[in-house]
Amino acid sequence: MRNALGLMLASVVTAVLITAVWFWTSSPRAELAASPPATVAAKPAERLAGTAAADVETTAAIAAQPSAAATPSAPAQPKTACANPDALGVSRVVEIDTTGGPGFGFEHFKQLDFLTDKEVVLTFDDGPWPGNTPAVLKALADECTKAIFFPIGKHATYHPEILRQVAAAGHTIGAHTWSHANLNAKKITDQQVKDEIEKGYSAVKLALGTAPSPFFRFPELQHGPAAVAYLQQRNVAMFSCDLDSFDFRAKNADQIVNTVMTKVDKLGKGIILMHDFQKHTAEALPTLLRRLKAGGYKVVQMKARTSYQTLPEYDDALLKDMKVPVAGTRPVGSVVQTVSQ
Ligand SMILES: [Zn+2]
Repeated sequence: MRNALGLMLASVVTAVLITAVWFWTSSPRAELAASPPATVAAKPAERLAGTAAADVETTAAIAAQPSAAATPSAPAQPKTACANPDALGVSRVVEIDTTGGPGFGFEHFKQLDFLTDKEVVLTFDDGPWPGNTPAVLKALADECTKAIFFPIGKHATYHPEILRQVAAAGHTIGAHTWSHANLNAKKITDQQVKDEIEKGYSAVKLALGTAPSPFFRFPELQHGPAAVAYLQQRNVAMFSCDLDSFDFRAKNADQIVNTVMTKVDKLGKGIILMHDFQKHTAEALPTLLRRLKAGGYKVVQMKARTSYQTLPEYDDALLKDMKVPVAGTRPVGSVVQTVSQ
């Protein structure tokens, strides 16, 4: 009887010991202590089969509202406070490696599908133009959001101060040829294609004082084989679009808002083509941006990893054309000095 009781006690003690060892080695608590905290994987981009987005990289996420608990580390770009607490904002910034001339916009280039559901890229062509471009800039600033501008070279020489406002507001600036020539026209020569592209970039650079991004949009979305080959060789990213607002033929602002919202709701995401040159677009933009926000859409800003290297002969030719006198290259501080004030 005593032996039996002792055996039972021993069994209980053994069982307790085994349970304790199991608990400390394989219980969730042991796992928690031994491994790093679990992370939630980010939702991957929706892609078509066989596509890759190796040329696109998210570099920073910018909150629409200034955060009270801002991190001390420097952000990817100077961040100005957004006065609008309900702004559309910028949900993420992607940096593009333009090596080899990647193409964007599903209307013509289907390789790179980097936008996730409900993500849009805002793009504006044909500026800079008095009245309309500043109105577009104001609408974007009111929503603390960013876009890509594809200015026409000639327009940049007419209104360089407006293009500098675009740059100062932190938007991405590419190019859209010198004179809006159709680069897929039957009679256009390879030399004319090169001239249109290079002179366009040199004009934008002259207006800005710094080189633009190696981003290019074909006038009328006409991408001829010679132009594509040339831009690839010059490491320029080529832009078509996912959805065309057809704002240039809209009768009023409402029509533009409806066209864009109908198309984006159908596609779910995309690069939107608009024109800051157009009056109705400038009028439509405040409402359109509000509708995008209400629809749950998020704006992605595209930036280039490098700047466009213009060709000196085109820079020089443009200066000559414009009859801008080049009288020395001394910095202003060595020529003009304040001696009394
Ligand atoms: Zn255009």
